[in-house]
Amino acid sequence: MESMIKKAPKCPMCNSDKTLLIVYGVPDHGLIQASNKGEFILGGCKASPEAPRYHCKRCKNEWGKLIEDPEYY
Ligand SMILES: [Zn+2]
Repeated sequence: MESMIKKAPKCPMCNSDKTLLIVYGVPDHGLIQASNKGEFILGGCKASPEAPRYHCKRCKNEWGKLIEDPEYY
């Protein structure tokens, strides 16, 4: 599951690097532990192709689309 966790890019709205990857799907125990450490957030198990890929902790912006991520589809 390590390969799913990667660094999110800077926020296109505020240029903050306080951004998180949004991970979809039913999380296993390791994912939940990593989520609790603030490495990413869990988006729930109902991912849609239009669902956002990244979240900014500073301005709450969410951007990117799952369908644009070749690792996901
Ligand atoms: Zn932002």
